[in-house]
Amino acid sequence: MVERSKQTVRDLRRGNRSVLLRHLYFEGRLSRHELGRDTGLSGGTISNVVGELIADGLVEEAGSVDSDGGRPRVLLQVAADRGFLIGVDVGETQVRVALFDLALTELAASDHPLSDHGHDVDHVVQLILDGLAEVLDSTGTDRDRVLGVGIGVPGIVEQGDPAADPTDPGGIGAVVHGQTIDWDAVPLGRLLRAGTDLPLHIDNGAKTLGQAEMWFGAGRGAGNAVVALFGSGVGACVIANGVPYRGATSSAGEWGHTKVHVGGRLCRCGSRGCLEAYVGAEALVERWGEASDSSEKAGLAALLAAAEADDPVADALLCETAEYLGASIADLINLFNPERIVIGGWAGLLLGPRLLPAIRAAARSYALRFPCEQTSIELGLLGPDAVTVGAATLPLARFLDSGGDVPEPGRREARALR
Ligand SMILES: [Zn+2]
Repeated sequence: MVERSKQTVRDLRRGNRSVLLRHLYFEGRLSRHELGRDTGLSGGTISNVVGELIADGLVEEAGSVDSDGGRPRVLLQVAADRGFLIGVDVGETQVRVALFDLALTELAASDHPLSDHGHDVDHVVQLILDGLAEVLDSTGTDRDRVLGVGIGVPGIVEQGDPAADPTDPGGIGAVVHGQTIDWDAVPLGRLLRAGTDLPLHIDNGAKTLGQAEMWFGAGRGAGNAVVALFGSGVGACVIANGVPYRGATSSAGEWGHTKVHVGGRLCRCGSRGCLEAYVGAEALVERWGEASDSSEKAGLAALLAAAEADDPVADALLCETAEYLGASIADLINLFNPERIVIGGWAGLLLGPRLLPAIRAAARSYALRFPCEQTSIELGLLGPDAVTVGAATLPLARFLDSGGDVPEPGRREARALR
């Protein structure tokens, strides 16, 4: 019984730290008074917990504002330099690694094209490890101050068991099922662990993009939304009541492999008629057949330029793309009743400005009227590197949830020695 009440007190304390840290993180500079008003915590609790967070170096004072007649109110903010986050995007054509401070300001980045090796597992693992070393060494960042590494991958991620190692959030045991890149149950967490002792968090790239857009971009403020990743492939992150909907084994949201044509074009997943086989950047460049450059990004840019110059073939292909996307978005609207749909990913952001009006019109004509009237369709706001930012939100989320559990210097070495 004593054990249990101790546990409860500790949980409560951690819960209060998490509530205040999270609120300060997302709402910016606030006074103790405003924190109390917004969170409903008592003045005494605010005072104690904020005192602890300041003593731990997680929160700092950031000026003051006058209050009506009383003493000026001190403003508080999360200390951006208290720790570092790393985001990794294992993309379709490159591996990007970026180092961020706690405010998600990018401090350094390293990009490695996949070149001739494709998604050969050992090669990708080496590129990630090289990228980690590059961003840390180029900035002279102490590894002990890195809160964690988030990795977004083009596949379904089966999370490991966090109970296996309490200092690791399941990352070591994460297994990737990437059917379109021939990754069959790849133990990515274990393979990376052989080369780094930083805490690892692995998730599907569309889900990391979704979290970034929901936290900082076009999804902000929406409780029910779908964030679509439109790149070489096509994916989605479905947000239901504020949290990503994962399904039984985390594969929910594989929107790119919903069917737009029974018996249609062969998809990279092995099936036929998938949305991705029609509108994914790789499929579009292939269907156009005019791109001389081997790079997909250059090919898609050339297709867009041709359409802008009134090339009838390019224009027709993009009109058809808008209709496929709009019809598939109508499916999302009918299935999930989202208030917002956000189109992100490098191809989505490249083609979006031209295609958005036609995508909206097609979605309207294919969706049920009532849910469609409640839904807005927008472009992502975080740019083509949003997957990397989103990957960094994985360790950030754990940091905020834990109420600011920062690894102490030397702790990881201690663990390794045990
Ligand atoms: Zn498919």
